[in-house]
Amino acid sequence: MNIEKTILLKDKNWFAIGGPAEFFAEPTTGDEFAQAVNYAREKELETTIIGLGANMLISDEGIKGLVIRPQLKKIIHELKGEDVFVTAEAGVTIEEIINYCLDHQLVGLEEFSGIPGTIGGSVFINIHYFQYNLHQFMISGQILEKETGKILDVDRDWFQFGYDQSKLHEKKHYLINATFKLKKVSEIDAAYAKGRSIEIIRHRITRYPYKGTCGCFFRNFHENEVALEINGKKMIYTSYYLDKLGIKGELSVGGARVSHQHANMIVNSGNATAQDVINLARKMQELVQKNYGILPQAECQFLGFKEYPLF
Ligand SMILES: Cc1cc2nc3c(=O)[nH]c(=O)nc-3n(C[C@H](O)[C@H](O)[C@H](O)COP(=O)(O)OP(=O)(O)OC[C@H]3O[C@@H](n4cnc5c(N)ncnc54)[C@H](O)[C@@H]3O)c2cc1C
Repeated sequence: MNIEKTILLKDKNWFAIGGPAEFFAEPTTGDEFAQAVNYAREKELETTIIGLGANMLISDEGIKGLVIRPQLKKIIHELKGEDVFVTAEAGVTIEEIINYCLDHQLVGLEEFSGIPGTIGGSVFINIHYFQYNLHQFMISGQILEKETGKILDVDRDWFQFGYDQSKLHEKKHYLINATFKLKKVSEIDAAYAKGRSIEIIRHRITRYPYKGTCGCFFRNFHENEVALEINGKKMIYTSYYLDKLGIKGELSVGGARVSHQHANMIVNSGNATAQDVINLARKMQELVQKNYGILPQAECQFLGFKEYPLF
C-alpha cells in the first residue's frame, strides 16, 4: 500500500485549516488498514485517523507520524424477519449510508441526514441529533487493535457509548465497520422517510453554517455541571449561554468568527489559522465562565497539538 510523504490536510478537513501530514495512507480494505497501522508501529510513528475531518481542528504545524484516511467503502445488508442488518465500512459517509438505506427501503438512520462525516468518525463521537444517538441503531462492529494489528468482532457494549463518547477515544482501536439494526418498510413508508430526510436537511441549512466549521465547537453540559433551571429542567445547552452573550456573528479573532447563525459554531471566514480558532474558543470559554461560572468543554477533536489547547 502506498504511503505518501508531506501531504496537505487543509483540503481534507471541514475547517479548511492546518499544516500537512508527515506521512499519509488511504487503505481501501481492512487488511490494508492493518498493514498501515503495522507500518507505523514498526517505524515508531504516531498514528492518527481522519474521516471527512468534519469534527476536528488540525494544528498549524500539521500532524507528525502517519495519518490514515480509511477509504473502506462497502455497504451490505441482510434481512432477518422484520429486521435488517446493515454493515457499512469506516470510510462510508453518513450521506452514502442513508441513501443506500432509503434506496433499499430501510429506515432509521435518516434522522442523521445532513450530518457530514464517515461511519468511523461518527461511531467515534456517537453522533446525535435531537433525541437520536447513533448507538441506538448500532449492534456490533469490527475494530482494528493498534498494538497487534488484529481485526476483532465486538458487540455494541464493547464501545461503552455515552454522550459524545465511545471507547475509540482511548485511541487503542480503530473502527473497520459497524452494523446497524434497521427496519424494512413498504415503498410508501420509504418515500415518507425520504421526505423526512429532505426536510431535516432543509431545516439544517436555515439553522447552521455548513462549510468552514466543525459543527458545534463545544459539547453540551452534563446535568450535574449546571445550576440554571428553566421550567424545572436543567439548562444543559451550551449554545443557550453563548447566545445570551450576544457574540453570534460579532466575536472574532483573526479569520475565525462565531457564526451569525449559531453561537456554538466557529467559522473560518477564509484565512483563519488554527491558533485563531483556539484564541477565539478560549475567549468564548472565558466569557461563559465569567458570566455563568461554568466552563464549556470542546466537542471538536484537536489533532497535531503538543498540548491540549483549551482551558
Ligand atoms: C456543519 C456541521 C454540522 C454538524 N452537525 C452535527 C450534528 O448534528 N450532530 C453531531 O453529532 N455532529 C455534528 N457535526 C460533527 C461531525 O459531523 C461528526 O462528528 C462526524 O461524525 C464527523 O465524522 P468525520 O468522519 O468527519 O470525523 P473526523 O472529524 O474526521 O474525525 C473525528 C474523530 O474521529 C476519529 N476517527 C475517524 N475515523 C475513525 C476510525 N475509523 N476509527 C477510529 N477513530 C476514527 C478521528 O481520529 C477524530 O478523533 C457537524 C459538523 C459540521 C461540520
